[in-house]
Parts: sequence; C-alpha cells; structure tokens
Amino acid sequence: MSSSPFPIASGPLGRRQSRRAVIRYGEREVAVGGGAPVMVQSMTNTDTADAIGTAIQIKDLARAGSEVVRITVNSPEAAAAVPAIREQLDRMGVDVPLVGDFHYNGHTLLNDYPDCAKALSKYRINPGNVGKGAKRDSQFAQMIEAACRYDKPVRIGVNWGSLDQALLARIMDENAGRAEPWPAQAVMYEALVTSAIENAQRAEELGLAGDRIILSCKVSGVQDLIAVYRELARRCDYPLHLGLTEAGMGSKGIVASTAALSVLLQEGIGDTIRISLTPEPGGDRTREVIVGQEILQTMGLRKFTPMVIACPGCGRTTSTVFQDLADKIQTYLREQMPQWKGVYPGVESMNVAVMGCIVNGPGESKHANIGISLPGTGESPAAPVFIDGEKRMTLRGERIAEEFQTIVLDYVQTHYGKQTAV
Ligand code: SF4
Repeated sequence: MSSSPFPIASGPLGRRQSRRAVIRYGEREVAVGGGAPVMVQSMTNTDTADAIGTAIQIKDLARAGSEVVRITVNSPEAAAAVPAIREQLDRMGVDVPLVGDFHYNGHTLLNDYPDCAKALSKYRINPGNVGKGAKRDSQFAQMIEAACRYDKPVRIGVNWGSLDQALLARIMDENAGRAEPWPAQAVMYEALVTSAIENAQRAEELGLAGDRIILSCKVSGVQDLIAVYRELARRCDYPLHLGLTEAGMGSKGIVASTAALSVLLQEGIGDTIRISLTPEPGGDRTREVIVGQEILQTMGLRKFTPMVIACPGCGRTTSTVFQDLADKIQTYLREQMPQWKGVYPGVESMNVAVMGCIVNGPGESKHANIGISLPGTGESPAAPVFIDGEKRMTLRGERIAEEFQTIVLDYVQTHYGKQTAV
C-alpha cells in the first residue's frame, strides 16, 4: 500500500520542548510550557486604582475564557487596590490568576505593598524599564527577590518600544567590531533576544528557579516577530509568551496577530498568547480573548467553543436571514459555554453549519454535527436541518432561528456530558 502524500493536518509539526512554569491562585493552576496546552491570556484597560471597575472587567475577560489576566500596577494607588481586586473577584467566584505589569517603580511597589505582591500570581518585569545606570541591577534584583520571597513566577517581557538602551549600545558596539557588520535590523533582533536571555540568567543567579521564568520579546511587525521568536526559541528552553505588540485596531490587528502567531505556533513555538488589539471606543475588551481562542481552535491546537461554519453569501441570497441566524447561533453558543463546559464536556468540539442556499448548503450541513440550509432566492421557503449527516426535519416560517436553537440545545443535552458518560 503506498503512503499518502498528505501529512495529517492535526496541528503543529512538533512542539518545541520547554520547561514548564506553573501560575497558581488557590486551587487553580495554569501550566505554561512543557507540553501544556497553549494558554490564552489578556490584559485589562481599566484604571487599576478603580478596584470595582477593574474586578468587573477581569470577570468579563475570565468569563470569555482568559486563563490569566494581567493588570497594570503603576502607582501606589494601583498597588493598594490589588488586594481589594482579588477579594472582589473571590466574592464573585472568579479564581483567574492575576499578573502584575510593572514598569519603572515595580521594585518600590512590590516592597512597599506586600499584600499586592502576595495577591498577584505572577509578575511581569520589563528589563528595559527597570532603571538606569547603577540603579538598574539593584532594582531588577529587588523585583526578583520579591518573586523568590512570595514564590511567584515572572515573565521577563522585552518590548522593542522600551528596549534596554545600554544593552542596545553594547550590542551595536559589538557589531561595529565585526569584520562584516550585521544590518541594523539584525542588531535590533539580537538586542531583543539577548535582553530576554541575559535577564533570565541573571534572575536564576539571584535565586529564582529556572522553571519560574517565562520569556517574551514583543515587536509590532509580523516578520520581525517571527524572526525574533525563532531565534529566541533556538537559544533557550524557557516557556515563551507570544504576542504582536501594538497590533492595531479592527481587522488589521486581528490579521497581523493571526499571521504572526500562526506561523510560530505551526512551528511549535509559543506556550501562551495574547492578542494586543486596540478596542474601538466603547468596544468590548473580551474581543482579544475570543480572537486568541479562535486562532488556536481554527489551527486545531485547542477547543474552546462550538464552531459555526457559515457561507459568505452571494447573489443567491438577497436577504440577511442566514447572516442573522449565523450571528444569533454563534452568540448563543459562546454565551452558553461558561455553563456548558462544566456540564457537557466535549461540547466544544461540536460544529454547526448555517448555509445560505442549496448549492453548498446540504453538503456542508451534512459534514457538521448540526446544519441548516436556508432557502436562497427563488428556492422553496423551507430550511432542511441535518443532524449527524442525516436530514431530520424541515423548518418553515418566522421562527426558524428559535426552533433551530432549540434543536441545537437538544443535541447538546443528548450527545455530551454526564448523560452519555453513564
Ligand atoms: S452556499 Fe449558496 S448562498 Fe452560500 S455562498 Fe454558496 S452559493 Fe452563495
């Protein structure tokens, strides 16, 4: 028997081997690296000093599926609010681990606000914003000592918008001494990677265990990010946090993040991701969580929520009926997941097809767990429903959306979870 020329499309062609770091809060443990599923995290954009407002946004992000939430800790007021945020989350039953994002004054805040240091589950340290000159090393050491004292992992998060200028100058000097100097872009890449690795090594010398360190090197260009992370992955075995920094708004931010992260994830690089979208004014912060989940799920790396397959529509559809139905059912499925995931394990693997006409409708619907093929222009006003590949019923009239939703719920209740486990 000859072998197929096609690799089985089940995910990356091998995952980078890395150490495993664990982020803890109470009974909750989130593993990063060491073969653990790629984790989705997010960051608030509230004023951390507003403890209630921040706790509410964290709850929304966690409910959307963020497995870790980062908050900025930029002032004494913010540091003082962190324990209150944690307590408020506990009262709401939200056990998501919190990460403190520190720049410039993190050494002071972690020292002066021990309850803040204890309430956080991880510290993010930007080595470019720790301090200048002689103070830099001692202030970095103070933050690592706090991590050791309170037994917290850290992310050493380099960002090219705030790269350690002394280190960059040193790398440029080294480059000038080369017989054939590297291009400026390569020098920048080298400075980013060196900053991450040297600071991780320094943290280990200061007593932080190697499996308490996660690295990131964020840049805003797709090709830059891919080049930097390939080299970072080659040179160390710390778990890596991926993200295209300042990705931008709307489709540009989503497309750029997806383009960069999917290349790296397909190469097995990346243990946790964040999608740094700029929300539209008044926009929903949870969008960055949903995009992160959708990248991982559409790549076949994880499953979070049932997927809706919908056709784009064309001249055969002159109404918005099928668009409305696709939108309604997708929103419904996502809204149910916080409850369903505990009651109906496996439901996140379900596929639902919502199709616009007879051309591809029945065929695509048969491939899904449940599919509906709505009538296109000129077709009989009937919508056949397919369940596990078989046509089971036909919906008609004004209540197709409600009836289809009931059919989906019935399928979930009879095919997933405790009922099928006994
Ligand atoms: S399934 Fe029908 S309506 Fe949808 S894109 Fe194809 S031809 Fe157009």
